[in-house]
Amino acid sequence: MQIRQTNQLFNFDKYPTFEKDIDLKQRAWIEVKGKAIETNVRQLRSKLSKNCQFMAVVKADGYGHDAKLVSKYAIKGGASQLGVATLKEGIKLRSSGVKQPILILGNLYTKRDLIISFRNDLMPTISSIRECLICNNIGKHFGLKFYLHLKVDTGMSRLGFECNKFAQQFEKIKSFENISIEGIYSHLSSADEPNSLDPKSTTQLQMQKFQELLKQIYFNSNHNIKIHLANSAGMLLNKDFHFHMVRVGLSMYGYSPLSKKDKHLSLKPALFLKVKVAFIRIIDKGVNVSYGAKFVSSRKTKLAVLSIGYADGVPRNLSGKINVIHNNTLYPQVGSITMDQMMVDITGASDIKIGSTMVLLGSDGDKTISPLDWAKVSNTIPWEILCSFKNRLPRLQVD
Ligand SMILES: *Cc1c(COP(=O)(O)O)cnc(C)c1O
Repeated sequence: MQIRQTNQLFNFDKYPTFEKDIDLKQRAWIEVKGKAIETNVRQLRSKLSKNCQFMAVVKADGYGHDAKLVSKYAIKGGASQLGVATLKEGIKLRSSGVKQPILILGNLYTKRDLIISFRNDLMPTISSIRECLICNNIGKHFGLKFYLHLKVDTGMSRLGFECNKFAQQFEKIKSFENISIEGIYSHLSSADEPNSLDPKSTTQLQMQKFQELLKQIYFNSNHNIKIHLANSAGMLLNKDFHFHMVRVGLSMYGYSPLSKKDKHLSLKPALFLKVKVAFIRIIDKGVNVSYGAKFVSSRKTKLAVLSIGYADGVPRNLSGKINVIHNNTLYPQVGSITMDQMMVDITGASDIKIGSTMVLLGSDGDKTISPLDWAKVSNTIPWEILCSFKNRLPRLQVD
């Protein structure tokens, strides 16, 4: 009799059991607005001249947003090329059905990796004659041309041919019959600095070097080669940086890298970081909260325990420095952020319950918290905040 009653209460045959049964919104998750990406790309493209192409940079899983999703909406918004950092990222995009040209921005230096790149129709970035030779041999072997971009170093001292020696090397590279030079590019190191339009700034010096190089090699006859230099900051600085293509990451995701705001640009953040309240407790005055007892309550305090921590990618050094939004109200995070959880002071709130959703990044009502805010208080940059989010956080498209 007892057992029959239990079975009526819980139909165990139909009870969820598997990983797939877990509601992805029961703990912490990232919501991505595809439409925001699309609108941002469209808006940014309106700043380019008609023939200038837009490469959507979707490295590091689309700055933490999900590269496949970002690519889809960036292409809808008019991106005609995609940029990734690694071979694996490129292959993943190709196998998801992306048809657009994909440039690998990192360096492939083994024959094996270059063959894999070739066979997946990905363009490598080439910084030396040695790599050109390997690519030419691969092309020759398959009886085809290997499409690639050449990179020159104009002041970043990272990848790229040495600027002064490039013109000479370029003559040699042009004679390789089985490679097709699709682009020549360089990368700006300091375009997001406030002084970057001053004539003597690092950015202007890089620009001068790049233009001198182009004069040496380009104006002769190499019409089909795309010249590109600008990242988000370079693109937003002014048109001189655009050339034939811009490589845009951060601003496509909705954040301007420039400290000066452009009134004609209203970028929309595509990422929302949300979390559930997993537990609520009330503590007396003078009670320690979290590891190291760094926070001690100064009054009777109502605490919400949120199920998100540094193992999800919320930097621990944000402890006690951020707010969380619920119903258009900001609540301060208190005590050390732990691996999987953090506490928030919700004293006075009557509308927050176990299972309530709080917003860590994004907006709710007229309150907004941006990765730029987190970056400022944790002494880093928004790029690092965005690509710190771990796979433990599901990415869910909302539109
Ligand atoms: C990451 C990257 C970009 C995009 O930079 P943002 O500042 O995010 O726009 C452009 N070019 C190269 C080579 C990169 O590595």
